[in-house]
Amino acid sequence: MRVAFIQNFFEELTGPLILCELLERQGHRVKFFLPDRGWTRKLKAFSPEMVAMSVCTGEHPGMLETASWVKKFINPAPLVVMGGPHPTFFPEVIEHPCVDAICRGEGENAFPALAASINGKGPAVDIDGFWIKREGRVYKNPPADLVEDLDQIPIPSRKNLFKDYPFIQKLPFRKMITGRGCPYNCSYCYNRALKDILKGKGRYLRRRSVTHVVDEAAYLKQTFGTKFIDFNDDIFTVDPDWILEFSDQYASRIKVPFCCNVRVDRLDEQGARALARAGCRVVKFGLESGDEHFRRTVLNKSTTDDDIRRCAEILHASGIKIQTYNMLGLPGETLQQAMKTVRLNQEIKPYYAWCSLAQPYPGTAMAEQFAQAPEQVKDQVEQCPASWFDTSIAPLEDRERLINLHKFFALLVRFPKLEPLVMKLVELPENGLFRALYQAVYGLHMKAMVKASWPRVLSMYLKLRKQY
Ligand code: SF4
Repeated sequence: MRVAFIQNFFEELTGPLILCELLERQGHRVKFFLPDRGWTRKLKAFSPEMVAMSVCTGEHPGMLETASWVKKFINPAPLVVMGGPHPTFFPEVIEHPCVDAICRGEGENAFPALAASINGKGPAVDIDGFWIKREGRVYKNPPADLVEDLDQIPIPSRKNLFKDYPFIQKLPFRKMITGRGCPYNCSYCYNRALKDILKGKGRYLRRRSVTHVVDEAAYLKQTFGTKFIDFNDDIFTVDPDWILEFSDQYASRIKVPFCCNVRVDRLDEQGARALARAGCRVVKFGLESGDEHFRRTVLNKSTTDDDIRRCAEILHASGIKIQTYNMLGLPGETLQQAMKTVRLNQEIKPYYAWCSLAQPYPGTAMAEQFAQAPEQVKDQVEQCPASWFDTSIAPLEDRERLINLHKFFALLVRFPKLEPLVMKLVELPENGLFRALYQAVYGLHMKAMVKASWPRVLSMYLKLRKQY
């Protein structure tokens, strides 16, 4: 069977890459399609029998348009299957006339089972992990069991994607994931709702073995000459013993610089030293709000200001640069409160203060605070923007000023003396110049982090500018 994976992002998405590997092992022919020039012509020529899309809430309207195009212009019309966060949290997307099946939760067990079951009548209707539509009726199966041993999941097959999109191979970093799940329940995060959906399906928090992870890093280094790795786990340091073992193996076999995410109360001196020894160049953590009370009550995040200061000190002492994650426009936040976030960042001196506009994502506890009635949830889903950087669906008192402050956030953290000027600029209407400045500062940060050349950064920017 010919299977087309369609994705919006010009980067490697681990989930579809793993599914690609599993489907190829079953003998299917798999190709990726990204929205570059002429991609619809190439998709038509491939004439897929199944089209699979990984979809986030916010990008779903565009992906549904793509599904409609696929059904209209590819003959015979392929089976259209959606997976990823949006159908997991909003399975009713299957009601769209151009969607045939949706995958809820993890796809490694479900997708190969679906593909193997397809015959002249379409797929079987009783595959765990899928809601499947046949002749107007929707068959709602439970989520598939979670994969207990993550080492059984193959290393993501990147060759297929890189063959058709060499630009992605040339990006100066590769992404890796070493585990799944998070033990916490922050109000703005998908983890709490996902735990509810997957209850009874197996252990939620899992980790690959150190050897399996280091083998993948070695493969990336040898096969693609990888010079930097971005470990994308929610909390890389969730298990201190794992980190010590990882650091030893990674330092002796790989030595490729990397960055990772931590939670400030899940990193001690020993862990930071181990990360530094392994080649960690940047650690990223969620500061989110400079108001501790806000962080605890609105965000349900128990990390204190002192935890943040202590973690920053440890990292500075270990010679690891810091990137913070921050949100502006939290429920009820004023410009003055947002400035507390700027000030805490200024105090701990991150190398880069990444900032988004808070999105109370439908399905999260934060979104529930706003939507009392079911029709409001539906509105939230439809209005949710695809980007975190332009606007927010949160009702904001200081909307325009916060949206402007977001554009100056990283600069203001780095250069506190700009505050009087920035306070004047945030009063102006939102404009493209502010957005361009924000993107330029972000580009400079990326260039320095992965030590890429200017031509490489520029070509990366031109391809990825819609994402950032
Ligand atoms: S610690 Fe991070 S990944 Fe875990 S629930 Fe909170 S925001 Fe989500």
